[in-house]
Amino acid sequence: MIYFDNAATTALHPEVREAMTEAMELYGNPASIHARGRRSRVFIEDQRINVAALLGVKPGEIFFTSGGTESIQTAITGALKDHGVRRIITTPLEHPAVNRNLESLIKMFPFELVYVNHDKKGKVDLDHLEELFQTEKKTLTILMHANNETGMLLSQKRVAALCRKYNSLFLSDTVQTIGKFEIDLSEGVSFAAASAHKFHGPKGAGILFVDAGTPIEPLILGGGQERNMRSGTENIIGIAGLSKALEVALRDLNENKSFIESLRIELFHGLTQLFPDLYCLTELSHSLYTILNVGIPIETVGEMLVYRLDMEGVAVSGGSACASGANNPSHVLQALGIKPGFEHVRFSFSRYNNSDEIDRFISVIKKMIRK
Ligand code: PLP
Repeated sequence: MIYFDNAATTALHPEVREAMTEAMELYGNPASIHARGRRSRVFIEDQRINVAALLGVKPGEIFFTSGGTESIQTAITGALKDHGVRRIITTPLEHPAVNRNLESLIKMFPFELVYVNHDKKGKVDLDHLEELFQTEKKTLTILMHANNETGMLLSQKRVAALCRKYNSLFLSDTVQTIGKFEIDLSEGVSFAAASAHKFHGPKGAGILFVDAGTPIEPLILGGGQERNMRSGTENIIGIAGLSKALEVALRDLNENKSFIESLRIELFHGLTQLFPDLYCLTELSHSLYTILNVGIPIETVGEMLVYRLDMEGVAVSGGSACASGANNPSHVLQALGIKPGFEHVRFSFSRYNNSDEIDRFISVIKKMIRK
């Protein structure tokens, strides 16, 4: 099996598994006042301190959640309810955790939804963003740091600076990038979201960063856990895994980054040799190094490539949202106006891939070329 679908999720790192196994002993409820409960509480607070230090923020700005989706929803709802946001600027290229939420929230809150322009590869037009800021309405800007389908990167620092200048709140969807870059959340970012399973941590564990200057009320009410921000008995094992995964990811970042970058280039060169008409949707010089999204001419390889590759033991993602067997382009490909006649494949790598897999993949796809 060749697994090139690491933007969907990643395998657990052995050190993460070990940390989670150890945390299984901590069964005391962190809310209990006895010694077992207190041990769990102290453990969670230690992980918060660890995560905050790794991200260069204050422990009080970190909340543990179930993942990116919950973090995003909490931040958007909080911005609308608690900061009087009346205008949201975003793009149609965001993850459904943003877009689907906005579709629902617009029926409940009085805000205007505005889309900032982007180019045909999804690069956000920052001049247009600045124009959109010329408003009296309290604004929330929601932009993803890296697009999960194309890898396109946002100039997060510049957006954060603009948001600061024009007094807009900024929700940075860092689900694909936390653990893959050193990220600066210090200035201009009001909220950020992360999911541990994207950087070799467990599923069901995430982070919500809330800047101390833009506090919000909780979305989930109940027993008052997470300093009243997110009720529900804490996922101690998940938090242990998340904290260790972030530590390992940032410790090994430089080494992994150059290794993964070299794999991506190797695959890109292999594919361009096989397919001279290849359309590279990923902007190689300005993208998340783990992602390569290419359009392969259907006339050369035929359709349903993702399924056919799966039958050959290769896991990749397509740009198709395959509901009820329909092979429709994803919302991202649609918004980018992708030309028909190309089958889009998203390859996404991790430290666990290797050059031999690239060679094996190239021989698999070579056999699929129509004579
Ligand atoms: N945002 C982006 C950019 C993502 O890629 C994902 C997941 O793929 C999410 C948000 C949602 O994260 P989760 O499914 O872990 O809640």
